[in-house]
Amino acid sequence: MRYDQRIIDDVRSANNIVEVIGEYLPLKRSGANYRTLCPFHQEKTPSFMVSPSKQIFKCFGCGKGGNVFTFLMEYEKINFNEAVQKLAQRAGIKLPEKEISTEKQTLYSELYEIYKIANQYYRNNLLKSGAFALKYLHSRQISDETIKTFQIGLASDRWDDLSNYLKKKHFGQKSFSESGLFTERQGKVYDKFYSRIMFPIFSSDGKVIAFGGRIYKEEDDRAAKYLNSPENLIYKKRYHLYGLFQTKHFITQKKSALIVEGNTDLLKVYQHGFRNVVASLGTALTGNQIKLLARYTKNVYILYDGDEAGYKASARAIKVCLENSVFPKIVMLPENYDPDSFLDEFGTEKLQEEIDKAFSFYQFIKVYKNADKSLENKEDAIDELIDNLMLIQDPVQREMYIQESSALFRISETNIIRSINRRLTKSFKRYASLKANQPETILSPIHRGFGAGGIGEKELLKMVVNFPEECADAMPFLEPEYFTHPIFQKLVSIIKKQDNLIQFTAQSSKLLDYFAPDEIDFVSDLMFFEGEFSKTVLHKLLNGLQIRKLNLDLQKINQEIIEHPDNFEKLREKKVIQKKIHQLKGGVVRKLLS
Ligand SMILES: [Zn+2]
Repeated sequence: MRYDQRIIDDVRSANNIVEVIGEYLPLKRSGANYRTLCPFHQEKTPSFMVSPSKQIFKCFGCGKGGNVFTFLMEYEKINFNEAVQKLAQRAGIKLPEKEISTEKQTLYSELYEIYKIANQYYRNNLLKSGAFALKYLHSRQISDETIKTFQIGLASDRWDDLSNYLKKKHFGQKSFSESGLFTERQGKVYDKFYSRIMFPIFSSDGKVIAFGGRIYKEEDDRAAKYLNSPENLIYKKRYHLYGLFQTKHFITQKKSALIVEGNTDLLKVYQHGFRNVVASLGTALTGNQIKLLARYTKNVYILYDGDEAGYKASARAIKVCLENSVFPKIVMLPENYDPDSFLDEFGTEKLQEEIDKAFSFYQFIKVYKNADKSLENKEDAIDELIDNLMLIQDPVQREMYIQESSALFRISETNIIRSINRRLTKSFKRYASLKANQPETILSPIHRGFGAGGIGEKELLKMVVNFPEECADAMPFLEPEYFTHPIFQKLVSIIKKQDNLIQFTAQSSKLLDYFAPDEIDFVSDLMFFEGEFSKTVLHKLLNGLQIRKLNLDLQKINQEIIEHPDNFEKLREKKVIQKKIHQLKGGVVRKLLS
């Protein structure tokens, strides 16, 4: 549940965005704003701007933007409530305690506590009575240092070891069963994990939220070699990456990250000095995982097994990356080597060489699909290539990759673009037909990156948001349906609902609270406006949008008249619209406004 809006506002006004961001990044004054290198993408010249007057930030390189809460959420990888809490603490504001229901709050904190205690308990086991397990880990060349860093532990051979230990801690029954660490049979509670080496899984801010357990005794013939604790209130595996908590600083330092498949791969690779590494958690890589990683670096290397399954998984991972504007490199290990066996046989330097010559996604597709072997293979490869290219949202980046792959595959750029457009139109049509009852908002997710609304929409809103006082007279004439972009429509309806528009838009950072994270980047773009106000331009833009809307109405009504020629009401409506258009073109409203 969200905190009360009044409290959110208090916290916001007590935390000057310039000071807050200044605590994380070196800010340099630049005119009315401050400027620095963007922490969310890699760049050499600063395009990350902070506006003290509007209390917002905006990166003109990668498009990220938002207010003081958004910044903390992005930078610290925390959720909205956590950002409010952090900033309240910073400003010495006391928050009301029970914002989430007491029961749920207790469940949350007890689950974290159970996992924390379980982790300490397992670690202790390994040190105290884990000689055999340690021997196993050492035989797999996992060093004591790595064991310590990743807090590897041991679930003992007893069936009720952890549950007995935790029972003394007075946790609620609900937390016990929700934790997923126990099973209940005939009224008795058993540990889910026993005789297993335990790998704790951390959230990126360092809380233990899950475990993976591995059998280690030679005679142990249980079917499940690995066993993972289940998802629960505090753990959804698609949102987390194994190792990230321990390696995020290396990722930031090295400005790149390796993604491996499993946690043992990760430990091995890490030990060989490749500390900027993460592993997806026993699942195919997810978009959420890539988004999480992209906060640290967009320079991503996929390092999967050198077999058919590994190549397939790489091909899938590429798509997930491209959808999230990450352009991965693919390290192709020789046939039938995984990172573990490769390091054993060839060592660190050779792996570095493989990383240095990693493939771009289009090169990988060519090799993986064996495009040079036959025309059929080449066709198949190009098919896959188009599938990938059309996932790229940014038109400039897309063009770059089209050029590169056109040269590599020796297919003309025109033909590649033609194929992409054909497929885009197909998916766009499919999307549009799904949305047929909302003809105004036919912007598919695929098209969102392309046009940001029709001509003049963005420019007009920039004026309204930045010069509310000057635009006040024009506001009654502004309607959401003048806009084609759903986010713009939303913005206009929010603005129109305000009693005091001037006061409202003066607090740009507050306006952002109405939008979802992926919309904020878009809206904050409107707020950084360096230009001057011009009444003529404002009226021209408004006029243009009104006329465009009326013309659409006219088209609609013409259609209706064709279908119902005897409906005189429609004819009358048509006349009214035509008259309005005529007036607008003659500038009657312009005069009215000035
Ligand atoms: Zn940026």
